[in-house]
Amino acid sequence: MIESLINLFAELHAIVFEGIVLPGLTAAGLLAHMEEAFDFTEWFLIGAIEVALLAAILLPLERRFPAERRGPGGLGDRVGTDFAYTLLHRLGAFAVFAFVLLEPIALAARDGWRGWGLPAVEIDALLGLTYLPVIAAFVYLVILDFVDYWIHRFQHGWNWWWSLHAIHHSQRRMTLWTDNRNHLVDDLLRDAILAFVALFIGVMPSQFLSFVVITRVWQSLQHANIGLAFPGWLARLVVSPGFHRLHHAVGLGHEGPARGVNFAVLFPIWDWLFRTADWSAERRFSANERLPETGIRDQAQGVNYGHGFWQQQWIGLRNLCQSFMRASKSEN
Ligand SMILES: [Zn+2]
Ligand SMILES: [Zn+2]
Repeated sequence: MIESLINLFAELHAIVFEGIVLPGLTAAGLLAHMEEAFDFTEWFLIGAIEVALLAAILLPLERRFPAERRGPGGLGDRVGTDFAYTLLHRLGAFAVFAFVLLEPIALAARDGWRGWGLPAVEIDALLGLTYLPVIAAFVYLVILDFVDYWIHRFQHGWNWWWSLHAIHHSQRRMTLWTDNRNHLVDDLLRDAILAFVALFIGVMPSQFLSFVVITRVWQSLQHANIGLAFPGWLARLVVSPGFHRLHHAVGLGHEGPARGVNFAVLFPIWDWLFRTADWSAERRFSANERLPETGIRDQAQGVNYGHGFWQQQWIGLRNLCQSFMRASKSEN
């Protein structure tokens, strides 16, 4: 079954590349970049299939079991904007691009590391998993998810980074498309850090692609407006829509001693270990209780995080500069 799906995808990839991309490259005199274009076509198609499947499965679930029914919302809450972000980020395969672009730098850093006499960092070889790629891929998934947890902690904990990440939290009508509402600099930073760490510890391109697809799909699910309680054991194992909804809740998701709760991307064990977990969502869903509203507290006082893509990008940059200026003033 899986093999025939892979073959079907390879056929589609070949048809699209030979029928559309190759003639385009020839006409533009860019045949020297054929190899890169072939890879990009693959990532683009994976992104397109992913978006289509997510829509087919999650849109009916959002309609049938909504976590909240809210009015049309403000201009900054338009779902269409989030859909545009999704197409840009997923079809543009930002994370995989970062992996390819950073390869020479990360490999040079790894050589330097070895040159200083430090121990090898290729995790699969260290654990004797070189010939067990599926198990190695799972170990890498856990390690990269741990890195993702800490990236997310710093997105909330460092003021300058929060000024960008706030764009993600400013959506008050969460849907499956909300995951990709991010400042582009924020995306770039996260994707670059994850790609660099992955390359440094020996993740293969195919393993990284699996990590990217799994996290992207799961992040869309956890942002979806679905009010279904996961069974207790499952909610402890993987991040559920309720668990992440509390991360977006006003008063919970970006306030308190850790500047938020439920930071994990795939595995909530990190929140449990570092004492940032709020497990109450499944209980509240089961009791038909509403979860707190989502968004940022100061939006109620009229603070604007942008109406539409360009304004959100501009406001994120402006807030970033202001946060740096405040930091340098307080140092003087
Ligand atoms: Zn966050
Ligand atoms: Zn989120």
